[in-house]
Amino acid sequence: MNGPDRAPYRLAQQAVLLASPARGDAAGDPNRSLLASLVAGQSAGFGCLPADLGLGPEDHARLLAEYFPGARLAIVNRPAIVIPEWEDLYKLLADECDRALPSAAWMSRIVATACAGSDHLWQDLGLSSRDQLSALMRVNFPGLAESNSGDMKWKKFLYRQVCSREGIYVCPAPSCGVCADFAKCFGPEN
Ligand code: SF4
Repeated sequence: MNGPDRAPYRLAQQAVLLASPARGDAAGDPNRSLLASLVAGQSAGFGCLPADLGLGPEDHARLLAEYFPGARLAIVNRPAIVIPEWEDLYKLLADECDRALPSAAWMSRIVATACAGSDHLWQDLGLSSRDQLSALMRVNFPGLAESNSGDMKWKKFLYRQVCSREGIYVCPAPSCGVCADFAKCFGPEN
């Protein structure tokens, strides 16, 4: 599928997913539309997420069966990109996720896996906009979202959180306001 066809395809796939009646807790989960966007984006070849979104085959099958039962769509077969910091990113996200949400733990795995991509995080996730990622962060990781009050680029923000947890400060300036790299961390994510 070529570039211009992918966006309408993704929208159509998302509509197919959301038209299927969710089961149990999945029906009222605020993540359902975000998960539909992630699955549809992967199906359309956006982002870098592997076929199972980084969940492993069993949880991926559970996600589809509970949130989008009966919906059939193509999946792009590609492996996860392996990064050595995955565990640290996952631990940060898992520690900070809203455990009252049935799918927040899955979101922790999905976001950590997408950090391996080379674009902005919303693009690596295969979402349709940065606003969607900001909503995903607010819903699933409210403490982290609140901490990013300066609207730092999300991937930069997560890496900075991991580094500060470990006591590692690699930033070239004592504070962002006086840093020559400010635009790299806070510029628009388009
Ligand atoms: S703007 Fe500079 S000091 Fe702030 S996070 Fe980015 S690199 Fe670090």
